[in-house]
Amino acid sequence: MDFGEVLEEIAAEAPQQVGRGKVASYIPALAGVSPEKFGMAIHTVDGVTFSVGDAGEPFSIQSISKVFSLMLAMRIVGDDLWSRVGREPSGNAFNSLVQLEYEQGIPRNPFINAGALVVIDALVSVLQEAKICFLEFARGLADDPGVNFDEVVSQSEDTHGHVNRALVNFLKAYGNIRTDIDTVLDAYFHHCSLAMNCAQLAHAFLPLANNGVSISTEDSVLTALQARQVNSLMLTCGLYDAVGEFAYRVGLPAKSGVGGGIVAVVPGEMTIAVWAPELDETGNSVMGTRALELFSQITQRSIF
Ligand code: GLU
Repeated sequence: MDFGEVLEEIAAEAPQQVGRGKVASYIPALAGVSPEKFGMAIHTVDGVTFSVGDAGEPFSIQSISKVFSLMLAMRIVGDDLWSRVGREPSGNAFNSLVQLEYEQGIPRNPFINAGALVVIDALVSVLQEAKICFLEFARGLADDPGVNFDEVVSQSEDTHGHVNRALVNFLKAYGNIRTDIDTVLDAYFHHCSLAMNCAQLAHAFLPLANNGVSISTEDSVLTALQARQVNSLMLTCGLYDAVGEFAYRVGLPAKSGVGGGIVAVVPGEMTIAVWAPELDETGNSVMGTRALELFSQITQRSIF
């Protein structure tokens, strides 16, 4: 199958979808992004790449970074992490305080904000320079030393981060934040601010399609079991409160972010990254979801 042609076919639908969602507006740095952007990239585990549209333009990966934070924590902290974070879909908004109260400070999963804050606290507990280690890890995954934080975005996240501040304080009150609150928040805002393009993201997710092994270095980033576990968590918790709908339409493990990016994994075969800034009411990219739905239908790729 010619995946380049598949991408062209999908991209042809992008203009029709513009106007069906809203670009994230909770920080000015995201509100200013053009709703017409559309990029998509495929990276096979054999090292072949395909791309279309704005696949080379960096955007704010936001919650997609929670996959990198989790991968790093699984490497460094191991299974102890799971005494502090659950593995169930939340069925709630990604930044819900309510659920955290009735579940006594144990976040449902590592991909909601509360869960990611605990994961980052676990990293900060063991790493001297957690923010730098995270950045180096992301650069290594993307095989690109040019990947960087966007300081304007992270500053803006900080200025408008009242709910995240509430979450981390709440977690601290339940004893589930063990280090300094401001250090955890600073690292969290920086993780969210990572700027990457579709081609870099597709490369960075490759170990999840390749039994945990990097195709650049041939090192094990994760064990094969851990890679399957991360994929399972993405399938059940990776699309905010729309995981069921996404699994129905696309059938692939994936993670979205409010910058309009979604990265999906076809285990054993390839990764697909897509970017289209307009979001639906659940916070997922409208055209990103549609693009992956078209991809799975045209190519017959699904884990089911
Ligand atoms: N920076 C966002 C927040 O913490 C993350 C949003 C997202 O992509 O889910 O609210």
